[in-house]
Amino acid sequence: MKPGKKLILALLFLSVIVLVNGQERRESKTTLPKAKYVFLFIGDGMGLAHTSLAEAYLASKEGSVGMNKLVMSEFPVQSYQRTTALNRFITCSAAGGTALATGSKTTINTIGMNGPRDKKLFSIATRAHQMGYKVGIMTSVSIDHATPATFYAHQPDRNMYYEIGNELVNSGFDYFGGGGLINPTGKKGNKADLYTAAVSKGFKLIRDKESFNQAKKSDLPVFVVNPVINEDNASMPYVIDHAKASFTLAQITRKAIDLLEGPDGFFMMIEGGKIDWAAHSNDAATVVKEVLALDSAVMEAVKFYQKHPKETLIVITADHETGGLALGWAGMKYESNLTLLDQQKGSFDELDSHIKQYKQRAAGNFSYDSVALILKKDYGFGESVTLSSWEQEQLRRAYQASMSGKGCNQFEEEYFILFGGLDPIGATARRILNQKAGIGWTTWSHTGIPVPVRVMGTSADAYKDYIENTDIPTFIARSMRLSLENIEK
Ligand SMILES: [Zn+2]
Repeated sequence: MKPGKKLILALLFLSVIVLVNGQERRESKTTLPKAKYVFLFIGDGMGLAHTSLAEAYLASKEGSVGMNKLVMSEFPVQSYQRTTALNRFITCSAAGGTALATGSKTTINTIGMNGPRDKKLFSIATRAHQMGYKVGIMTSVSIDHATPATFYAHQPDRNMYYEIGNELVNSGFDYFGGGGLINPTGKKGNKADLYTAAVSKGFKLIRDKESFNQAKKSDLPVFVVNPVINEDNASMPYVIDHAKASFTLAQITRKAIDLLEGPDGFFMMIEGGKIDWAAHSNDAATVVKEVLALDSAVMEAVKFYQKHPKETLIVITADHETGGLALGWAGMKYESNLTLLDQQKGSFDELDSHIKQYKQRAAGNFSYDSVALILKKDYGFGESVTLSSWEQEQLRRAYQASMSGKGCNQFEEEYFILFGGLDPIGATARRILNQKAGIGWTTWSHTGIPVPVRVMGTSADAYKDYIENTDIPTFIARSMRLSLENIEK
């Protein structure tokens, strides 16, 4: 074909695409059906590999080679969205959350404000509340953490936890659930207690199973703080650590549905926040359990959808991918052995605390033999998991790095790349276990790879293209008949 002809054909093809896209965009603007009940699930850091890992793990538990589909994988619309921030290709949870909450891209670390941080951006949750919908915000990390915060707060920096918590107290929203507040009395502990402030604003504060079970609509607004909260970061425990008194994300979601269902309709955001944290630590065993916990919460929404199929919209996505997770590793070639993950007896957090405690008790006399004993108990090393001499050598080097005290220093370039600022022994043990299972990680941070979007219910088709993170709240707003014009108050 002559080059001229090629060009004409290419132009024709392009104009058809533009036309189709233009029509689709116009249609989606005018014809999205009204959604009375909207669920937005955000798996923080949850890329396609994270959900696929959980599916392949479930299959391998049954001795089969394939993947057992999660509930979210059964959704009729399965597409992708680009996660980039306004000023960086690889986003963070503050900018990623703001995009998903407000429909506007912003700068790194900014919560619910524009790029220069001189204007507030209002979220679909705030707009829904103004329009009379009931609103619920839930997460497995602290409720003032970046992702949930972008739905009710406006702060130039995600670390301004007290200011964020103060906005939560004054949000007028109906239901908060999951983790607690990181700095309820400020960084120095000298400010008015935010839990007390929440109660004086009318919130019923629920911190135990009995009040949780008995909570009813007349108790709204309700603030559920999980009975077991991490002292340092106010998050719920990792599922893999089996904290008996803990609620599950599914229970917290179920309770929100019971309390918020009614003639007003509702918007709720449910975050699986610890998928990201586990992925930051390259801990596949913990990632799997956190993904499954989010999927169980999704199941609660699907059960509700089955009762109200014409009025319900469920959207599941992520703010970004974390870890550069891959289902395959060089040393295993084409092999996987995912049930090996069961040898890990707890989260990185829990297991690294064993090493830390032991080290403190031994005060300088922490021998490699005692490390080997801990690794046998916590990861099955030398017992159900056989180590090659190369793997044993890696552990010895990690032990030396740990004892040198430099191993956890994220400013030492080589140590940071090897151990990600974690204790070198734990980081290496998990790397070995993950790699033997056939799992690879490329980073301790986020990546720029697009993330899945799964949608079920009214107006689901609007999401079927390769979309932008900001399209998600824009489409939700249209379905809920909300205005997302983000202007200063
Ligand atoms: Zn993260």
